[in-house]
Amino acid sequence: MSGSEPRAEPGREPLLEVQDLHVHFETEDGLVKAVDGVSFSVAPGMTLGIVGESGSGKSVANLTILGLTRAPDARISGRIAFEGRDLVGLDEEGLREVRGNEIAFVFQDPLSSLHPLYRVGAQLVEAIEAHRALPAGNARRRAIELLGEVGIPKPERRVDDYPHEFSGGMRQRAMIAMALANEPKLLIADEPTTALDVTTQAQILTLIDRLQVEHRMAVILITHDLGVIAENADEVAVMYAGRIIERAPVETIFATPQHPYTWGLLGSIPRIDSDDAELVPVPGQPPSLIAVPQGCSFHPRCPYVRPRHRVVEPPLEPLADDPGHEVACLLDPATRARLWAQLKAGRAPDEAREAVRIEAGDE
Ligand code: ADP
Ligand code: MG
Repeated sequence: MSGSEPRAEPGREPLLEVQDLHVHFETEDGLVKAVDGVSFSVAPGMTLGIVGESGSGKSVANLTILGLTRAPDARISGRIAFEGRDLVGLDEEGLREVRGNEIAFVFQDPLSSLHPLYRVGAQLVEAIEAHRALPAGNARRRAIELLGEVGIPKPERRVDDYPHEFSGGMRQRAMIAMALANEPKLLIADEPTTALDVTTQAQILTLIDRLQVEHRMAVILITHDLGVIAENADEVAVMYAGRIIERAPVETIFATPQHPYTWGLLGSIPRIDSDDAELVPVPGQPPSLIAVPQGCSFHPRCPYVRPRHRVVEPPLEPLADDPGHEVACLLDPATRARLWAQLKAGRAPDEAREAVRIEAGDE
């Protein structure tokens, strides 16, 4: 891949642009810096994958797009532009217009957004009618059509079921039908398959993919699973402790990952070609977002940490030889390349560190 190509293709102006977003919550225990200076964008028809461990700020960043984190205790700054319109300053009424209509959100737990006491079809009809007036009967026909489209068998019968009469996979499909009811331009899917078995997971992701092609929808796919990213995303943003620490096109992230945290995540993908499917998680715990470590926030878990990394904060910067690839790491790019070569050859992180001496002058 040539590094000199501009990131956006002609005619691929971003649909959504998030710039330097901060979302901090005041709590009794202190200020939670859930999102701390995050920028990303997504163009029509493209899928941005956002990956990171639990608690890295993925959901908060995306809920903020739809104004769903505006509690009295939240401090929000930055710019969120959807088709050039500012969403941060939009009032509740304006947001309601956007929500579920132009931007739809699929939550991790379908039960949290399907009302248990109303029939699935009635909830779909409500979602459809919230944004457009249709002649009587048309909304119900559209509801049945949508259920069929997401692969619910016998939709004309299942439309009158209650959510508890659906399996987990069917509920998730119903949620996606609800999200797609108004043909949104952007679908934000927040761990849409985490609660599902592997087969249903694959079906749901294939479904989102097909609908994306048919509707030229942009998708933000949030997951802690790089395997899901590999299959579904065009671009990847890796989040750690409320920030993006690496961003690149999907092939680049897998071919030449730059951040030691990304290396750790890649090491924790089960290998399909190996019987030994043991996961090697990134050792250590993500930090509390009330007391994020000084310097590089990953330094307490980084096998390659140098004293300076405990003090200096690495900015997210494009690589000199590939401006489409950004990383926030203080190690010298040549050192990173040597370390990655060692890891790719199957060495453990401490073996790699021994083999590639990280000199003080290497910083
Ligand atoms: P992820 O989706 O990556 O798992 P989240 O975005 O849900 O992580 O959460 C990021 C951090 O923000 C977590 O530490 C979470 O506890 C905290 N958080 C989320 N919402 C609130 C809130 N309303 N008040 C205080 N802290 C919050
Ligand atoms: Mg989340």
